[in-house]
Amino acid sequence: MIDLTDRLIQTPTVIRAANGSVKWHAPRRLLQLLCGVLLITLPLTNGLRLDLRRDEFYFAWHKMAAHDLFLLFWVSMLGVALLSAISFLYGRLWCGWVCPQTLASDFADSLRTRLDRALHTRPGRSRFALARSLWALAVLAVSLGTGVVFACYWLAPAAVFAATRAPWLDPAAGLTVYGSAAVLAADMLWLRRRFCSHLCPYGPLMSTLGDQNTLAVRYLIERGDDCIGCHKCETDCPMGIDIKQGVGQHACIGCGECIDSCNDVLGKRGKSGLIEFRYGTEAAHVTKALTLTQRLGLWDGRRAMVALTVPACLAVVLGLIYGHWPVGASVNARGDIVRTATEIRNGYLFTVDSGDPNPAAFTLSVTGIPGAWIVPQTLTIGAHDSRTVPITVTGPTASLSVGRTPIRLRVSSGRDSKEIQTIFYMPAP
Ligand code: SF4
Ligand code: SF4
Repeated sequence: MIDLTDRLIQTPTVIRAANGSVKWHAPRRLLQLLCGVLLITLPLTNGLRLDLRRDEFYFAWHKMAAHDLFLLFWVSMLGVALLSAISFLYGRLWCGWVCPQTLASDFADSLRTRLDRALHTRPGRSRFALARSLWALAVLAVSLGTGVVFACYWLAPAAVFAATRAPWLDPAAGLTVYGSAAVLAADMLWLRRRFCSHLCPYGPLMSTLGDQNTLAVRYLIERGDDCIGCHKCETDCPMGIDIKQGVGQHACIGCGECIDSCNDVLGKRGKSGLIEFRYGTEAAHVTKALTLTQRLGLWDGRRAMVALTVPACLAVVLGLIYGHWPVGASVNARGDIVRTATEIRNGYLFTVDSGDPNPAAFTLSVTGIPGAWIVPQTLTIGAHDSRTVPITVTGPTASLSVGRTPIRLRVSSGRDSKEIQTIFYMPAP
């Protein structure tokens, strides 16, 4: 009888290496998958879009005016704060774990390897051309889909879908879809990792933010005698570099694949790996000896301040979206007074200033005269706009006495209101 106990209690090798070390590959792929889903769903569900054609800006599923530059500024500041904090605390983790460019390169490389493996082919073999053609077709299809999604960040999805079907009817939208698809196809078919190591400005820019406590992938040179020279860390590196040459190499994207490789090789020999994520280069910074705040990357007050800029910017953005939008108002008597047997009407010019970043409806009301009413009772005003309209206040003669009666006119948006005092005049009969 076959005893399966050993196999059943064995930790899956996809999660832990033979020496018990956590493998970084699976969580990295999971995060990349989540980022990919988010990048696709955000523009399609109105979670994020700057639609300049319709003067609309969507953020966190909230619609605002695209010319609300104050809000756009703070959303940009939030992005800068987030990238700066990640880079200062965690080095190139953005590049290897979150960046869409790495996601595209990983997808293209992984698909090519899987197709080669599935068709049992290598360069020179008869099915090699077939494997490469299938790969190129798949990359072109994914590029077109990504071009559609990219265009949805700038245009309404309905317009993008229509332009994808018939680009000649909407050349600007068609060019955005097919132009971005062509750029991405060229990137996935030819450029891939070369973009990260030669063209991307983020790496060199953000490297300047790091210091001796920034997270990095480090080869433990002090244990160099344990290296068996298998070169697996080099062959598995997607960037094709040798981490043993030193920490902080420009092309290293901090993916952690070499850490898994070394743990796999040395783990089978009962040893711990020679490569790990480490804050800085100090030997004393070995992860097991760190406090919780140090493990989170908060080594000093400077880091805490940088990390705090993210929730601070987020609070400003959310305050602008969901906060208090002031309403202003002023009134001028038009001087037209109409008297009937039962009512007196006074005309005014009423000006309302809206601080709302969206077009909004305002309600008008009057107090000071029992039974009086106002026309119109609602008013729609554009985002951050001002509107002057003629209004009429009507009061029953039975509630009035000849001469001036103070009244209060109120305008309300639901988020804010304004009340102003004016005079209602009843002439002698
Ligand atoms: S050296 Fe290691 S962490 Fe850096 S890119 Fe290569 S595999 Fe990724
Ligand atoms: S995988 Fe580990 S043991 Fe093999 S060459 Fe790289 S550092 Fe040395």
